[in-house]
Amino acid sequence: MKLILIGPQGSGKGTQAKLLSEKLGIPHISTGDLLRKATGELKKDIDLYIVNGNLYPDEKMLNVLEERFKERDCKKGLILDGFPRNLKQAKMLDQITKIDNVVEIFISDGEAVKRISGRIACEKCGTGYNLATMPPRVPGKCDRCGGRLVKRADDTEEAIRKRLKIYHRETEPILKHYKHFRVNGAKDIEEVQREIMQNLNN
Ligand SMILES: [Zn+2]
Repeated sequence: MKLILIGPQGSGKGTQAKLLSEKLGIPHISTGDLLRKATGELKKDIDLYIVNGNLYPDEKMLNVLEERFKERDCKKGLILDGFPRNLKQAKMLDQITKIDNVVEIFISDGEAVKRISGRIACEKCGTGYNLATMPPRVPGKCDRCGGRLVKRADDTEEAIRKRLKIYHRETEPILKHYKHFRVNGAKDIEEVQREIMQNLNN
């Protein structure tokens, strides 16, 4: 099963992908992680773009994905995260693989803003929390390592609204390209997970 989750920031997409990956026994492939964890020649090439604040070009990303898909853990399927982000990328992806399940995790802009504003993360290990939905056991302290929890500088309401606008303009049109089903991301994590599981084909 090859699966894509589409939803705005704050929809819980990442959490759902992680849970689905465990349940279905297929890898969660995040393009952000692939870029961050790259080594050797690939890392050098990525750095050429990232250092200057540019995005890694789509054509190159597609090559990275194509290689990743060949690995043995992808035999049963995969969950792709972070690509495609726009219609052009979706069409490019068609050239290297066939996606058979597309899930839209819908939440309103208001809900997204509320959720993202509550996000905090550990300074040391990067573990994320949410004051609204997933608070740490001890306020201000990381459950895992005891590190200090801080808000990201770009999680202001203005910045969030700007990112949502980009999502509506660039990413949402992907949904017209694929047959997909929609789940209500405002429900709690378990409920959303159940709904996704019930609707998957294959
Ligand atoms: Zn920590």
